[in-house]
Amino acid sequence: MQRKSIFILILLLTVQFESFSRDRGEVYYDNVKRQYLNLMSSPRLQKDIKNWENVIAGFETVGDAYSDSKKAPDGLFMAGEVCIDAYKRSGKDKFLQRAIINYSKLVQRYRKNSLADDGQIKIAEIYRIYRKDNERAKQEYEKLIKKFPDGDQRKRAEFWLKKLAEKEDIKKTLPQVTVRKIDVVSGENYTRVSIEMSGEAEYTHSLLSEDKSVEKPRRIVIDIKNAKLAPDLKEPIAVKNEHLEQIRSSQFTQDSVRIVLDLKSIEEYSTFYFDGPFRIIVDVTGSDYRGQGIGAIIADMGEIESVETEDLEEMKEADAGRREEQVEKFHIFLDPGHGGEDPGAIGRKRRIKEKDIVLKIALELRELLEKNGYRVSMSRDRDIFIPLPERTAMANRAGADLFISIHANASRRRGAHGIETYFFDLSSDRDVLKLAAMENGVDIDKLDTLQFILTDMERTPIRNQSAMLAASIQENVCRRVNSEGVNSRNLGVKHGPFYVLKGAKMPSILVEVAFITNPEEERLLASHKYRRKIAEGILDGIRKYIDNMRKNPVAFLP
Ligand SMILES: [Zn+2]
Repeated sequence: MQRKSIFILILLLTVQFESFSRDRGEVYYDNVKRQYLNLMSSPRLQKDIKNWENVIAGFETVGDAYSDSKKAPDGLFMAGEVCIDAYKRSGKDKFLQRAIINYSKLVQRYRKNSLADDGQIKIAEIYRIYRKDNERAKQEYEKLIKKFPDGDQRKRAEFWLKKLAEKEDIKKTLPQVTVRKIDVVSGENYTRVSIEMSGEAEYTHSLLSEDKSVEKPRRIVIDIKNAKLAPDLKEPIAVKNEHLEQIRSSQFTQDSVRIVLDLKSIEEYSTFYFDGPFRIIVDVTGSDYRGQGIGAIIADMGEIESVETEDLEEMKEADAGRREEQVEKFHIFLDPGHGGEDPGAIGRKRRIKEKDIVLKIALELRELLEKNGYRVSMSRDRDIFIPLPERTAMANRAGADLFISIHANASRRRGAHGIETYFFDLSSDRDVLKLAAMENGVDIDKLDTLQFILTDMERTPIRNQSAMLAASIQENVCRRVNSEGVNSRNLGVKHGPFYVLKGAKMPSILVEVAFITNPEEERLLASHKYRRKIAEGILDGIRKYIDNMRKNPVAFLP
């Protein structure tokens, strides 16, 4: 056979193999995923709830009509996820119901699949977070432990069972608190309301739809238990920005306070809280909110209503030409850790301070990023103290696409050395918790008792993207640093409950660039050349992450 025909034969075989190895459900799934991607990137499409229903129905079809497909469990899981998003936007309970049905099918039909326990935990969280039905939530967490004793969600279930039991005890013992301050921070398409109290309190939140009969607009209601309202908060606070009309507070019952956010136009909201002082945070975003990493990129590529899988390659090529000029639009938020009265960790030998070193690296990195056409904002560009919650709020307000927090590590062990990168999630690793406690400025015992899990469900795409960003930065910082003949240890990518990453609306990571407590690494950190290498490594990591996402956005989704 001639060489050319062998080549063609191999090509044919490869194509054949391709089409045999992918079942029809998979092809369908990829198609719906693409639709989902379009929806996530298009504020215009998001406004019509029918588009959400289409995507949900698409994923359900994979689960129901192609139940033998490899992707059937993924279809059911994604159907549940999109239902929750649709609920968050519309406040309609039918979406929660539908989410529960999809997750239940997943758990019942595909018990051996690795997504099954995730489905079960989602059911429990719907009851706990959205339905406020703690009794039922407990039953669902217990089911998880029984059905999936070896699954990776077991720890989470045990954590919440413990919390819910504690909550019942605390209810009687929590001292009464005073709601003493309400602050509003707003930027383009983003508003954060912060409700400050004299101590920890239990609260619930819900989104109520417009009620014309009593002339009430769409509103978010926060009920704080066992609380008194400070006298000066009794008057409504007029906000009058694009999202909020006003904030009303009242002593709802003798021992509960109700805070109502009268809405103008919002697409989504989330709540969580911070300690020291205790604050309930409500973040609302408008319809054109852009700072969502992948959303920003795809939005720039333009909308595609519905795509056949075969067209994808063609589309990718067409987009390639447009990519070049998009770099400048990308907005990176740099957060040098600590500052001002908070020095961070301190070196043993030269007594250099973490706050100074990480600021220098960040300033170096800003210069590099700007040279490469990125837009850069910083939480601080000088030696000032900025509370942790402010840092993500600043990034959200700026509508940044990536959040990069820069720190230097510390250990009691003099010999500890190396580089590690974190993204936000629950962790049960004692060393990780120790580090998180230190970076959070609380002691570890306090951290253990704090409800450090997001009170709202995490947005899975952002979590995935954060993990990928962390991997890219970790790999590239190690590569740059080690190209200098330094042999720095690659401690890998980890996850932990770092407050500074909590509430970020974009992929966010925290990099510990070296151990300041290791005399050799302290010496390196003191040198400009070494800091420059670190900054170059972070730059490489960001660039490669963005490149990969542009080449294959679908891979960045769950
Ligand atoms: Zn630090």
